[in-house]
Amino acid sequence: CGIVGYVGTENNAKEVIIEGLKRLEYRGYDSAGIALCRDGKVETRKHVGEIANLEKIIGDPDYDSSVGIGHTRWATHGAPSDVNAHPHSNSDNTITVVHNGIIENFVELREWLIDEYGVKFKSDTDTEVIAHLIGIYYDGDLHQAVNRAVEQMRGAYAIGVIAAAEPDKIVAVRKDAPMVAGIGEGCNFIASDIPALLKYVRKIYLIENNETIVLTKDEIKIYDENQKVVKRDVFHVTWDA
Ligand code: GLU
Repeated sequence: CGIVGYVGTENNAKEVIIEGLKRLEYRGYDSAGIALCRDGKVETRKHVGEIANLEKIIGDPDYDSSVGIGHTRWATHGAPSDVNAHPHSNSDNTITVVHNGIIENFVELREWLIDEYGVKFKSDTDTEVIAHLIGIYYDGDLHQAVNRAVEQMRGAYAIGVIAAAEPDKIVAVRKDAPMVAGIGEGCNFIASDIPALLKYVRKIYLIENNETIVLTKDEIKIYDENQKVVKRDVFHVTWDA
């Protein structure tokens, strides 16, 4: 039910993401998780229950990075559990996704992935199909792979995606679920809502429906549904959460 993503230079993604998720607690949740890009791999940790439960299993200072995504889940498909908590990855852990919302055609997509590609599903969520779909289309360009996957997805969703092979980047999509981007200095952010980011930034891009964003530490690129680059004015937040 809440998404936070961070791309920066310092090894502080864990703190930024947890802090952001706490500020989204008002949206409600039953589990929480985080995935960090580390040494060419994505390492995911997730836990049912409160964010405090997640903090207990990510306490080691070695577990940190300059890029990551986090999630608080409000279960719609699959019981609240460690396995069903987000983030979700494809089979070889090269693509990792957080998702708010519902993929309406997930049963059909899951059957197709099993029949055509022999995919073995790890969770009961609708979300896991997104990670496998992107994984199937991935050939070194995460943005293109997300575009192709999105063409097959029906429903309402905000997603944040990272790829082990492109550890400097987050790709996010907004369709009928909230999403904003935060503009930092040498770092950039995504979140479900502005309060998640106010400890770190005051400059925001309000993302519109059907837009895709590609974030690196230096740049936020926004694309419309035809994948044309969109110019967006910066929104300056003057209030406090
Ligand atoms: N439908 C997804 C699930 O049940 C995402 C729920 C949410 O928005 O947190 O895992």
